[in-house]
Order: sequence, then structure tokens, then C-alpha cells
Amino acid sequence: MIPSLRGTHDILPGEVEKWQHVERVARALCERYGYVEIRTPVIEREELFIKGTGDTTDIVNKEMYAFTDKGGDRITLRPEATPSMVRAFVEHSLEQSMAAAKIYALGPMFRYERPQKGRYRQFHQLDIEVFGMNDPAIDAEVIDLAWSLILALGIPQAELVINSVGCAECRPRFQAALLAALGDDLPKLCQDCQRRAQTNPLRIYDCKVPADQPIIDRLPHSVDYLCEPCATHFAGVQTHLTAWEIPWRISHRLVRGLDYYTRTTFEVLGHALGAQNAMLGGGRYDGLVKQLGGPDRSGIGFAAGLERLVIALPEGTAIAAPSRAFVVAIGEDGRTEALKLLRELRTAGLAAQMEFEARGVRAQMKRADRLQARATLIVGGDELARGEVTVRDMRTGDQRGVPRADVVSVTRAIIET
Ligand SMILES: [Zn+2]
Ligand SMILES: [Zn+2]
Repeated sequence: MIPSLRGTHDILPGEVEKWQHVERVARALCERYGYVEIRTPVIEREELFIKGTGDTTDIVNKEMYAFTDKGGDRITLRPEATPSMVRAFVEHSLEQSMAAAKIYALGPMFRYERPQKGRYRQFHQLDIEVFGMNDPAIDAEVIDLAWSLILALGIPQAELVINSVGCAECRPRFQAALLAALGDDLPKLCQDCQRRAQTNPLRIYDCKVPADQPIIDRLPHSVDYLCEPCATHFAGVQTHLTAWEIPWRISHRLVRGLDYYTRTTFEVLGHALGAQNAMLGGGRYDGLVKQLGGPDRSGIGFAAGLERLVIALPEGTAIAAPSRAFVVAIGEDGRTEALKLLRELRTAGLAAQMEFEARGVRAQMKRADRLQARATLIVGGDELARGEVTVRDMRTGDQRGVPRADVVSVTRAIIET
């Protein structure tokens, strides 16, 4: 046996039903909010993420599956969706072809991280993005969509946190204040924080090292350094969320680990894996489209981790087996007729199965039980000679001979009630 790669996982029958449920709910919600699906390749030019995600991030520095392909191009398996979505928006001029540039995507992402519980090297995300809309109402809509997804999935104990990290105007003042407040404490912080202080001081807030926390807790808050337009925008987002009765709290530490965020950031935290974990997160990235060679358009979106949503689903979600019929054949004549009936049921839109290998009726009935069939149709013997099929309702145990011509409609009546 050749085992699967470390950090990857198969989604097996019994588990895949939950994934299908999450994907169904997500698609339905996105479409209700006016988002249209887009499918981009899993491989992109490495450059897209160096420029887009940012070359000071851990994602680009340590975690990218990047390689030189046979043609000599630098390629990477996408570590996140947003730069791909921006590239597609620019490359295909989506703002001209779409009534509103609101798009979503579902698919795998790849990061070479140390595998741990709930964290994989190939993981899956729902990603939604909006381009060219600046009103705080769109920030609130994106947050509403994220929160509605959590509610629609019935995920308990979720918490929405928001923040504003400011813009190119006001963030430098906040960064300066942050470094000033650190002062003599900087050398006491961990190695990662020392590096962050040089490259992107905001990211010190991402530090999880326990010894650093008392120092980080004393640092200033970005919301106290917003310029007037950023402050007005953030107030607007909160007003809309309140009007829609969406519960949130402000988290000063929510700066998000990427370079491109501006103004609004948000996360939904869950408790499914024991510790508090972000199930989804996103924010506004007003400079990114231009930075990637597009027009000067704003952007906002979020990515939700499907593995985490699936783990957080309430007990008993999406485990109901589909209602189906099972066809049992008695003897060779019965088998020929049973095969015909099987195809008829399926053509009529009903889920139906049959045991092709087993000879005995008892073995076939056992299989029907294992599949939790709602109706069992027994074909053969005297009934077949009379032009009938024995139909058994597996819930009530009622059993009767049904004229061959009526078998499909009688079966439908049983399995669809
Ligand atoms: Zn600002
Ligand atoms: Zn640290």
C-alpha cells in the first residue's frame, strides 16, 4: 500500500455527506446574497502571491508549495484564494461583464505547515469577494453573509469579532505608536515578534507565545488611531450590523496575518476544537486590486475553512440515508425481470439498488436491510407468473402483490412519504 501524503486527508463516505451539506448551504446562501460562482486554477504564478499575499508573510516565506515547472516557470499551488480572485477580476474585466462584481469560490488550498488536529496541507475554503464597492453597507453585508452561514449550519457557540486596521493614511501613525509603546520591551518578545517589528509591526498582535501576552495586552489599539474617513466608515459598519441585529464585539487584536488588509477586519470564532479557533475570517483590501495591476478598485471578502465548519457541525447533521428501493430476484427468470425493473425505477427518478452477486433471497434481503431500503420489491416465483411483483413497505412490514404496470408508482408512494 502506498499511503497518502502527510497533511492530506481523504473525505470518506459517512463524512462526505457533511461536506456536501456545508457546500449546499454555502452555495444557496451565496446565491441568495447575489454572489456568482467562479472557478480558478489551483496553480498560479508564484509572483501572484509574493505580490498579493505579501513577501513578509509566513504563508509566502515558509508555507508555499512553489516549484519550477518543466518550462522553467515559477509556479505555486495556491495558498489562499483572494489573489487568484483578484487576478481573475482584472484579467477578465469582470466589472464590465457582471452587474455587480460579487463572486464566490469553493476549493482546495495548499500550505506546507506542520500538520496538527484540524490543520492540513491540503485544506478547503469557501471564499467570497466583492469589488468596487466602498459603502460600509457592503462590509456589513459580507459580515452578515458570514454570520448567516454559521447560523444556517446550526454551529453553536460561535462569536463574531470585528476591528478596523485603518488605511495607508492612518496606519503609519498607529504603527509608530505601537513601536513607541513597545520601547524597551521589544527585546523581551519572541524571535517572531522581533522580526514582525521590522517587517509589519501590526502582526505582533498575532503572537500566541504566552510569555509575550502581558506586553502585547498593554499595546495601543488601532481604532484609537483611525483617520476621520476610516473612523466614519467603521462607525457605519457597526450601525448596519446593529440594524440587522447581528451580535459582535470589537477585538483590538484582530489585525489578520496578511499585508493587504485595510479598514474592516472580522472573524467568526468557534470552540469545536477545544481552543478558540477562527472558522472564517476576512476584511477589506482596498489597495490590492491596483497593486496586482488592475484599476483602483476596493475589495472586501472572507474565507471560511470547510474542515473547521464540518468539525463544528452539530451532532447528527446530514446523516440521513437517501430513501431508496431494493429489488430482490428469485431465480433466473426473476433476475431478468428484476434487472429490467431496476432500470425502470432509476429512469423514473427513484433511488434503487439490487444485489448482483448474491444468489440466495435471504442474502439479498440482508443487503436490503443494511442499505436501510424503504421498499423491497421481490421479483420471481408464482407472483411473476401472475404478472405481479411483491412490494414490501420496510417500515410498516406491509406486503402485497402489485400488478407489474403499477410497481413504479406504488414504490414511489412508499419511498417518497
Ligand atoms: Zn485611515
Ligand atoms: Zn511573540
